[in-house]
Amino acid sequence: MKEHSDMAPESLVVHAGVEENEHLAVVPPIYQTSTFAFDSAEQGAALFAGERKGYIYSRMGNPTVEGLEKSIAALEGGYAGLACGSGMAAIHTTFAVLLQAGDHLICSDAVYGPTCTLVETILPRFGIECTVMNTSDLAAVEQTMRPNTKVIYIETPGNPTLVISDLEAVCELAHRLGAKVVVDNTFMTPILQQPFRWGVDVVVHSLTKFLNGHADVVGGIIVVQDEAQYATFRKTLNQLGGVLAPFESFLVHRGIKTLALRMQRHCENAAPVAEFLEQHSAVEWVRFPGLKSHPQYEIARKQMSGPGGIIAFGLKGGIDAGRKMMNAIKFCGLAVSLGGVETLIQHPPSMTHASMGAEARRRANISDGLVRISVGIENVKDIIADLEQALAAAGTRATTVSKPA
Ligand SMILES: *Cc1c(COP(=O)(O)O)cnc(C)c1O
Repeated sequence: MKEHSDMAPESLVVHAGVEENEHLAVVPPIYQTSTFAFDSAEQGAALFAGERKGYIYSRMGNPTVEGLEKSIAALEGGYAGLACGSGMAAIHTTFAVLLQAGDHLICSDAVYGPTCTLVETILPRFGIECTVMNTSDLAAVEQTMRPNTKVIYIETPGNPTLVISDLEAVCELAHRLGAKVVVDNTFMTPILQQPFRWGVDVVVHSLTKFLNGHADVVGGIIVVQDEAQYATFRKTLNQLGGVLAPFESFLVHRGIKTLALRMQRHCENAAPVAEFLEQHSAVEWVRFPGLKSHPQYEIARKQMSGPGGIIAFGLKGGIDAGRKMMNAIKFCGLAVSLGGVETLIQHPPSMTHASMGAEARRRANISDGLVRISVGIENVKDIIADLEQALAAAGTRATTVSKPA
């Protein structure tokens, strides 16, 4: 085994979790098996008693899945990872570990749509009180804290408005008042943001997005910081059952090998796209953590090492302009999801965030003309050319400053 502790992130993505194996295969085999045989009755009993290390049954642990878990835990600077069948499985398993009836949860209002629905409709059925609010407003968070507030759940940058919460400040407040902080780090990946450095207790990801990066797997992961925490999470995940399969784990681990390169390119491509949009006459506003116009630009610079590949912008023409622009897109993919090598564009008020309802969208600042782009790794000229023609087709007078009449 190579020693990982002193490796830079660009090396960790290639080497972490890649275990030596019987035939010294450079890429370890996929353990496509549901169960593992015992040498003897005694050995089986010792495995179940936890007296010996080894594998029993793939819901409880599998070498291929473990390789992926080690890779992401090393990148996050955590103790261990727990791969889950989807990002939502990782999020609900985390809530199941940290919360019980009578507890109170604070959740960012700008979060992945189904996370908001989970927090507002399912957790209350189990006696958990939830407040969905703007976690970038620290004074408001402090006022909302109750003696029974156990968890502050944050997505930063938030979905889809890219509002940024100050992780260090929220953790300081939460820990002073006896709550834990969970961060959804999907938009940044550990290449651009390492929440544990700011005091965060648990990190969750949708592997479906940048970590896998190839838009061909649905998966999630929880990363924890110490052995005791890991034991509790593993036990609960084993009971709830939302684990990731070996083949999916192999694909994500394969995708991670190019994560550092991909994130660099996503950032490099997104910056000129954001600048193009910001000076376009059909665009009312642009939110991108790399633009000085971002309201939390300074916090972004403190806690993120790059702006990422996601841009949100508002069309002057509202819902109608959004629909027209989506129908005029040619090069970019008209699809939800994000973080893949291909550029994808979507209209959250009618798509990902439709289930939230108009009132919740208004509270979370998701305006009718909001469009979200996940900028891919293609040549940025092709991306900008497509946006330019689609904005023109959206019907608003789309003369740009840079383009002569
Ligand atoms: C996609 C996404 C999720 C949910 O992940 P799934 O893998 O689709 O279950 C959670 N958080 C963020 C920020 C996401 O983008």
